[in-house]
Amino acid sequence: MGFVPLNFLLICFFRERGVFTSQGLIRLFFITVAIALTIYLIEQQWILPGLLTDPLGDPVSLVLQYSPFHQVASLLLGISILGCIILVGFDNTPITQGLTTALGGLVLGYILAVEHGWEIFLMASSMYMGANIIRDSYNMAYRDELTGLPHRRALNELFDSLGSTYSLAMLDVDHFKKFNDAHGHDIGDQVLQMVATRIGQVGGGGKAFRYGGEEFSVVFARMNKEDAFYHLDEVRKSIQNYEMVIRKEPRQDEAEEPGGKKQRKKGSFRRASEKVSVTISIGVADRTASGQTPFDVLKASDEALYAAKKAGRNKVSMSS
Ligand code: GH3
Ligand code: MG
Ligand code: MG
Repeated sequence: MGFVPLNFLLICFFRERGVFTSQGLIRLFFITVAIALTIYLIEQQWILPGLLTDPLGDPVSLVLQYSPFHQVASLLLGISILGCIILVGFDNTPITQGLTTALGGLVLGYILAVEHGWEIFLMASSMYMGANIIRDSYNMAYRDELTGLPHRRALNELFDSLGSTYSLAMLDVDHFKKFNDAHGHDIGDQVLQMVATRIGQVGGGGKAFRYGGEEFSVVFARMNKEDAFYHLDEVRKSIQNYEMVIRKEPRQDEAEEPGGKKQRKKGSFRRASEKVSVTISIGVADRTASGQTPFDVLKASDEALYAAKKAGRNKVSMSS
């Protein structure tokens, strides 16, 4: 009984990173060993030694005396549930949520102990877990890791469900190559996350996607391009007005003394901070003719984006 919740905690702790990462393998190893050991013990009809079944000493024993499980198992269960809940606070993913709820379900099922209660709760917990694993796999397949936005595959699937009126926008960070060159790729990534957050907050029910690289798209179902324009311009302004404070790395080309020691001016060991900002250009188009597919509309919005770039960037441009 104690193994199961502990494994739940372990699974929660080793975040979902796929099985073939080192963490995934460690997790798999723990689970396999625990399952193998449990099967072996059951097969051997091994009597649990006193260490595991005897009541624990006071005051732990006093607290646990009402528990329906053996005390060691209860203690492990308590620690595991608490650990899972704390981890959900830090890392609220479908997996951690699912495991914590399933663990709660197991305990409730056992405590209630109505006829078949245990089996019912076990089944419900497993189903809940299963659903969450599917959700997590979906997120892994459809969400972009850096920005958390769904990516192109999800966009293509959304295309199938669009009706007769919709707008599509293409958004692209201005001079981002120069930005990376000036501030480094890591700062570039942070800016990209900020940009993605703001695009994700677009009004009017717009759904944001990372199209690839520093390009994003937004879908407005049931909205024409004139209305979409307003919401997109709000996003453009909010990105333009956002200043990100970065810490400047100490310069590499600092003068070196003949002895090899770095010569620093007084006080220059402090890293200077600097504010950086970016702008984005946007092109938006809507469906105008009955034969138009979402791919046609996307192409039109890409052309509008090109026009926005040509007109000086930091602009929203509508397809003609
Ligand atoms: P323009 O205003 O015409 O869009 O100029 P640009 O420099 O933004 O356009 P270009 O397509 O030439 O360069 C895009 C740059 O975006 C190149 C690449 O280094 C950067 N980029 C793409 N994806 C990422 C990413 O995930 N992280 C970072 N840091 N940079 C990225
Ligand atoms: Mg680009
Ligand atoms: Mg760009």
